[in-house]
Amino acid sequence: MARLLLALWGGWVMLCPFSATAWGFFAHERINGLAVNLLPPGLQALFRSQQTYLIRHATDPDKRRYAVKEEGPRHYIDLDRYGTYPFDSLPREWKQAVARFTEDTLQQHGIVPWWMEVMTGRLIKAFREKDIPRILQNAAEIGHYLSDAHVPLHTCRNHNGQFSGQRGIHGLWESRIPELLADGKWNFWIGQAAFIEDMPAYWWLRLLESSLAADSVLRIEKELDARTDPSEKYAYEERKGKLVRQYSTRYTKQYDSLMNGMVERRMRLSVQSVASIWFTCWVLAGQPDLPSSPQQREDPEQREMIRQLDRQWRLKRVNGSEHL
Ligand SMILES: [Zn+2]
Repeated sequence: MARLLLALWGGWVMLCPFSATAWGFFAHERINGLAVNLLPPGLQALFRSQQTYLIRHATDPDKRRYAVKEEGPRHYIDLDRYGTYPFDSLPREWKQAVARFTEDTLQQHGIVPWWMEVMTGRLIKAFREKDIPRILQNAAEIGHYLSDAHVPLHTCRNHNGQFSGQRGIHGLWESRIPELLADGKWNFWIGQAAFIEDMPAYWWLRLLESSLAADSVLRIEKELDARTDPSEKYAYEERKGKLVRQYSTRYTKQYDSLMNGMVERRMRLSVQSVASIWFTCWVLAGQPDLPSSPQQREDPEQREMIRQLDRQWRLKRVNGSEHL
């Protein structure tokens, strides 16, 4: 999203700084960090000791979007390109979907459910090989992609309200609301990770739920906007130590309450899902014993890759779709 910088009172003030990146960085980090609490002891020892790594790298896939053009479609799927709910014309199996729509079309409309298959395959392999750097990297990134699948606007083409005069709604839903309300106000006592018999069926279900909620996400904001004075919709308020023009606290809270806790529910479910998929991959790998304090958590290749990601991200060179 374009950033407009305004000189005000002799200082720089940022206007609407939220970008469309699917759960903002704040929420992605919280989800990975909280998911660790749900794991059983055999897996939790390693993940607990590496919680900081899992939090810090929760946002690597979004950073990679600036460096790798194939990355964008891994974060979403515009299900409404395939008819209406429950989108039966779209085969859930990759090869069948390619045969029906071509790979180009699938890539164009997003591939998150199939990318999750690739990522969980990598995590199971890493668990089997007790390859700690790969376990941590893949787990952190699965936390990201799977959480993205819980965001309603990741399942429809009008993902930032660009077709309905609601530009910015993506950041309002996934960044502004959680940043304002998650810490302290929302309940993240969630229970335990569960074994998932059929992982693809699980994330397809989450995507279908997201898709069902997308209409409400857009409609409720539209209605609220229509009865809100424009001067009350945005306000200069502090964010991360900077004065920025953003959706006002009042407007944000009104929107959240009209959605009746949807953002909190989707975030809680994201935590539960991430922990359960991590746990399921570990079980499918034969529940290997893992060290609680590994000697090496990154190899030199990964370190270099992450350094590059950070560099590209700072340069903000977006390749491909602006979607998430
Ligand atoms: Zn993402």
